[in-house]
Amino acid sequence: MSSSFVDLHCHSTASDGTLSPAEVVALAVSCGLSALALTDHDTIGGVAEAAEAAAKSGIDFMPGIEISCDVPRPATMHLLGYGVDLVSPVLLDLTTRLIGGRNDRNPRIIQKLNELGVAITMEEVEAEAGGNVVGRPHIAAILHRKGYVSSIKQAFDKYLAQGAPAYFDKERLTARQAIELVQQSGGLAVLAHPVQLRTENDAQLERIVKDLTDLGLAGIEVIHSDHDAALVEKYTSLADRYGLLKTGGSDFHGTNKKNISLGTANGRRVPREFFDRLVERVAGPMRAG
Ligand code: AMP
Ligand code: ZN
Ligand code: FE
Ligand code: FE
Repeated sequence: MSSSFVDLHCHSTASDGTLSPAEVVALAVSCGLSALALTDHDTIGGVAEAAEAAAKSGIDFMPGIEISCDVPRPATMHLLGYGVDLVSPVLLDLTTRLIGGRNDRNPRIIQKLNELGVAITMEEVEAEAGGNVVGRPHIAAILHRKGYVSSIKQAFDKYLAQGAPAYFDKERLTARQAIELVQQSGGLAVLAHPVQLRTENDAQLERIVKDLTDLGLAGIEVIHSDHDAALVEKYTSLADRYGLLKTGGSDFHGTNKKNISLGTANGRRVPREFFDRLVERVAGPMRAG
């Protein structure tokens, strides 16, 4: 395998991406990546298909999941769980809880949209998701198709984003719960796109990283489409100081995020070494125990 680049953060139709898991793998191959991790929101539903496609095309693969944690607004904290054991009962319990949080939220969004004069039903949303995890981008796609908005972005701005009239939060796990459940599922927890923590200063960021590390955090996503050069440098230095793994990915969602291409994060590529260190840790002592 000659390529020295990987992508460790991307989404498929199993959550809110627009390519099937096998299509994401095929794209990774055509981009010349040597390894891929699929990190759908709240589900590992796409992992088996992606793993099979990866095995056939000779690209290395790592199962993953992305979990939104409960933090005060306007911050968002997402944790990536890498290398989880797909048959772990704890993992099944985790995804059941996460999807339950969504299932409570979605009908409230639909009801509010109806009150706002938008004709949309839960059945349409479920059809749009095709049996996969329902996310707001599915609702946005319907609003767009029906002409209520001119773009997915406008659907969020006008209706679905935090602060907009049809926004409802979903029940989230605390970071402590998410890290514990990922670990008990045989995986490693990594802080996704720390820029989205929206910390006010470096001291606050460092305190969060320290607290998460005490809870068992294994790594920081240093390269991401939302990170410029200065942020990559800041997060790299933080990871190194706390002895954490460094990871990186595009956060590719297919055409749901049109400006993001698989394998590239704000003009940067993710070194193969990040994947290799992650594999070592996933396969290491944690698994043996
Ligand atoms: P959900 O998982 O249902 O909360 O939806 C989260 C997804 O919605 C994210 O992964 C983004 O892809 C998308 N999203 C969130 N906010 C926006 C926004 N303002 N514009 C476009 N997409 C967004
Ligand atoms: Zn997403
Ligand atoms: Fe995220
Ligand atoms: Fe993501």
